[in-house]
Amino acid sequence: MTKLIMQHYTDPYSEPWPWPNFQPWELASKGNGAVQIEMRAGDRLQKLRYRWDAALTVNSAYRDMAYNLSKKVKSTRDSQHPKGTAFDIRTRGWSLDELYRFKELAYKIGFRGFGGYNTKKGKPKFIHIDDRGTPAKWGNRWAWPDAYTMKAQT
Ligand SMILES: [Zn+2]
Repeated sequence: MTKLIMQHYTDPYSEPWPWPNFQPWELASKGNGAVQIEMRAGDRLQKLRYRWDAALTVNSAYRDMAYNLSKKVKSTRDSQHPKGTAFDIRTRGWSLDELYRFKELAYKIGFRGFGGYNTKKGKPKFIHIDDRGTPAKWGNRWAWPDAYTMKAQT
């Protein structure tokens, strides 16, 4: 697996930037400003954006480990964000139909980790998707693809 690496999102990027709908600052760690995104994950995010055909807001993508473990984030060592495979996409105000279409599209494109996070009032806030390659689901069920919740037909 290959990573796109920038020491800081404001640095010049020597090659053509591969993801036209997502800029370095959107994918950078809010801790140290670095960008470390797996190419396959970024390519899948761009593919998802093309098929979705509307703007997507990335709340969080790459996180350096210190920031990931900080009080502000309170995530864990095995989080997918420091690996550069995870994206938290803002879902505030989305309809149930939009939530459904989005997670199924993400699954179809190859994302396998899904987590749904709600606001304090219980409304969808953001969906975590990641390219870990093996099935994982947590949080609220609205974020889980049908493939993870349907019983196999016999
Ligand atoms: Zn996440």
